[in-house]
Amino acid sequence: MAKKRKLPKQLAILDEDLCTGCDACVTVCPVDCIDKISDPNHPGYAMGVCTIDLTVCIGCKLCAQVCPWDVITMVPTEEVQRVPRYQELLEV
Ligand code: SF4
Ligand code: SF4
Repeated sequence: MAKKRKLPKQLAILDEDLCTGCDACVTVCPVDCIDKISDPNHPGYAMGVCTIDLTVCIGCKLCAQVCPWDVITMVPTEEVQRVPRYQELLEV
């Protein structure tokens, strides 16, 4: 069984419905765990929307600080682990 990494105290949760695809968060993430989604069925497809790989996020908050639209919220990891729709984001 793969060894689970120690999770940071908080994780960055991004609301894809509100993301404008401006790329500000992508450029600051020190571990390069924010990507643009290229799903033509997604409403934000024209500009692209971002998604965060929570299995890599180190909880540094930089993305939340730079997002001009406050789309990214830092959520305590315990809460992320409790909420079903977030839990799948933590699975590798
Ligand atoms: S909190 Fe830090 S590590 Fe996590 S997605 Fe944002 S910039 Fe990247
Ligand atoms: S900084 Fe905010 S609006 Fe811009 S791409 Fe990232 S999450 Fe989306």
